[in-house]
Amino acid sequence: MAIKSITDLDLQGRRVFIRVDFNVPLTPARGVADATRIRESLPTIKYAIERGARVILASHLGRPKGKPNPEYSLMPVAAYLAEALGREVVLADEPVGDGAKKVVADLREGGVALLENLRFSPGEEANDEQFARALASYADVYVNDAFGTAHRAHASTVGMIKFVSAKGAGLLMEREVKFLSRLLGEVERPFVAIIGGAKVSDKIEVLENLLGRVNALLIGGAMANTFLKAKGGQLGRSLLEDDKLALARAFLRKAEDRGIEVVLPRDVVAAAGIKAESGKVVSAMNVPEDLAALDIGPETARSFADVIAKAKTIFWNGPMGIFEIPAFAEGSTAIAKAMAEATGKGAITIVGGGDSLAVLAKTGLAGKMSHCSTGGGASLELLEGKVLPGLAALAS
Ligand code: ADP
Ligand code: MG
Repeated sequence: MAIKSITDLDLQGRRVFIRVDFNVPLTPARGVADATRIRESLPTIKYAIERGARVILASHLGRPKGKPNPEYSLMPVAAYLAEALGREVVLADEPVGDGAKKVVADLREGGVALLENLRFSPGEEANDEQFARALASYADVYVNDAFGTAHRAHASTVGMIKFVSAKGAGLLMEREVKFLSRLLGEVERPFVAIIGGAKVSDKIEVLENLLGRVNALLIGGAMANTFLKAKGGQLGRSLLEDDKLALARAFLRKAEDRGIEVVLPRDVVAAAGIKAESGKVVSAMNVPEDLAALDIGPETARSFADVIAKAKTIFWNGPMGIFEIPAFAEGSTAIAKAMAEATGKGAITIVGGGDSLAVLAKTGLAGKMSHCSTGGGASLELLEGKVLPGLAALAS
């Protein structure tokens, strides 16, 4: 796929429409709770400003379901952005319409406007042509920097592009694609993937696609419970998917046929429920009837860390336990630490997934990874081997 970079495009004096991913969590007082995604898009925005573009930014936020709703206004984002850029950011009061048109028309070279939440219109998610044409009418150049939305074929990620003459990827988009697609090509070995989180069903396609590529696959979190039960384990009251046991069994058989090591937890931290102050370390294959496995155990965490220490390429998606509760966060923390150390020794370390990034934020180790993906679903779909519509639409 040949995709131009923003650095290949002529921006001077032109209206440059940048689809960004400002879908950030907000605080109850309507401030930005986690600005990672905004910060990550700053290099692209600054690049366009420095080149004398008239910058039009557009994003969705939350799920307002096609209707204007002040709860989902991009106002807090505009305030954060103005502060971060040290310049005025004019927020249009709607995604398209006379107000938006005027804001765009008033833009000077190096000026920045932000359209209101794209999902205030039903046309965005429906990829409606009229809405797409309205967005395109604001743009001489289209740039997509919203990797987190690249797996969706919406008006701002796909529909509008054919109505704009110049198009390309932003700097964040390029970085995301570069790091993640590296995992699907030639990698430095050993290549290890650590997959956790809640459900096998969410991630089976990623597991299948990675199986042919990795040297070892480490599985933790609630997803491991399904695999452990598929192997005949007693899982007590652990969260698992009884309807995915056959799938799990077939997967393990396939891995064995191919000689790929799938490592499951040997011990787990079990408790009666999430209200427990602490858990009890038990055998992963033998969780007491009244308890649930809520984290990988210390022996498992050590053995996973050993595998990580020897790897040259490491991908992690999905926490090893209910990391939201400190008593069950140690397994996930151990993985984060082992990866940080591996980065220090020259390994390529890549993390994807909203909750996995939350683990890194809690442990303060996000900066110690080679790459943290801003796209949860998008990163998984890319690793499933799917073509992301937002990327396909950028190709010429
Ligand atoms: P990501 O967002 O990184 O892709 P997921 O959304 O797949 O990760 O999974 C994260 C969720 O899985 C977390 O809310 C975590 O509490 C939960 N989880 C992990 N391990 C367990 C477990 N053993 N039992 C119950 N929930 C778990
Ligand atoms: Mg999640």
